[in-house]
Amino acid sequence: MAKCSICGRKAIEKIEYARKYLCSKHYTEFIEEKVRRSIRRYGLIKKGSKILLAVSGGKDSIALLTILSKLSKEIHFKPYVLHIDLGIGKYSEVSRKIVEKAVQETNLPLIIIELKDLLGMSVLELAKKSGRPSCSVCGIVKRYLMNAVAIEMKADAVATGHNLDDIMTFILKEFLQQNLDGITKLVPRIDKINEAAAAKIRPLYEIFEKETLTYVLINNIEFVKEKCPEARTNTLNNVLKNHIHILEEKFPGIKYSFIRSFLRNIDKYPKLYMEKLMKCCICSLISSGTKCSYCKLTEKTHGEPLGMYTRNYIRKLLTGMDYQGY
Ligand code: SF4
Ligand code: ZN
Ligand code: ZN
Repeated sequence: MAKCSICGRKAIEKIEYARKYLCSKHYTEFIEEKVRRSIRRYGLIKKGSKILLAVSGGKDSIALLTILSKLSKEIHFKPYVLHIDLGIGKYSEVSRKIVEKAVQETNLPLIIIELKDLLGMSVLELAKKSGRPSCSVCGIVKRYLMNAVAIEMKADAVATGHNLDDIMTFILKEFLQQNLDGITKLVPRIDKINEAAAAKIRPLYEIFEKETLTYVLINNIEFVKEKCPEARTNTLNNVLKNHIHILEEKFPGIKYSFIRSFLRNIDKYPKLYMEKLMKCCICSLISSGTKCSYCKLTEKTHGEPLGMYTRNYIRKLLTGMDYQGY
């Protein structure tokens, strides 16, 4: 095996686009430096801010938790971890345990929302009752809860573990479907909208999927290896992602140049969704119609919209927690 380009020890990985070999120590530092640079370049996190980390337990969100926990001491911000227990049998049990363990090791405050306790139903039961695909219901619930928790605790932003491969996949998918409006949301940071939508940040915006995997493996960090039983393999997203991977192998650096050109051109895409945004008439959180998707969903499954009930539930859950931060 080749030697590390920095220290000469045994290399564990070759970074094609940077044309260097790295040992595990320098690989770890390389990835952390990339995240640090993205935070600076895109103005993602300010000193003294409160950041809510959405952590499912998968490799990306666990890498996010580990890296931001380290950087929080340097940048002086306060991270909080949010885990949503979806109630999907063993998969959710394992995910929750892994997040609890990671939180113990990093000593960060943890907020767990258990769907069965909140709504009396798991994601699968909600899907069955509403007649909608489970992943679509899951997306509505997760997006709503992340935003609602961030708003209630007055967090400065919600951070998610989307990596460069995810972002590029979403951009290509929106482009193929000619949803140019949707493309404008795929940036490293989306600002806060009044008291209705918390800011969203993506600190792993420039990290490859393969890199988060290598990062957690070489640092012996536990993450959820099982796939959610509801995950489908033959989706447009998966096919696109596989092709992106092949493209990078054949043309190292193409993902970077794509994302940089994309961000340079971002103002040329229409931002029509901004004009359609309003506050939900039930819960006052962000919505593209008079009622938000979560209130519409719970109206179907429970006979009444549960947005306001959910916000109160979160308020109670947060009571007594030191979420005031700085
Ligand atoms: Fe939710 Fe679908 Fe992902 Fe499972 S695969 S966690 S149901 S979005
Ligand atoms: Zn080295
Ligand atoms: Zn609502």
